[in-house]
Amino acid sequence: MTRRGRGTGSERRKAGTPRPVKVCATCGREFQWRRKWAACWDLVRYCSDRCRNDRPTGNR
Ligand SMILES: [Zn+2]
Repeated sequence: MTRRGRGTGSERRKAGTPRPVKVCATCGREFQWRRKWAACWDLVRYCSDRCRNDRPTGNR
């Protein structure tokens, strides 16, 4: 188990977070930065190729 930060723990701090996190546009889940996205992290919107190809219809 990894316990980070002390205190209430209800407050989230950016400082101390080793890697950035984004929310997948398809499944809405949070995913962490990965090495393969190092070059294009700014463009990443999906947690995986599966979500990228599984976009909900009706959204051009
Ligand atoms: Zn996803």
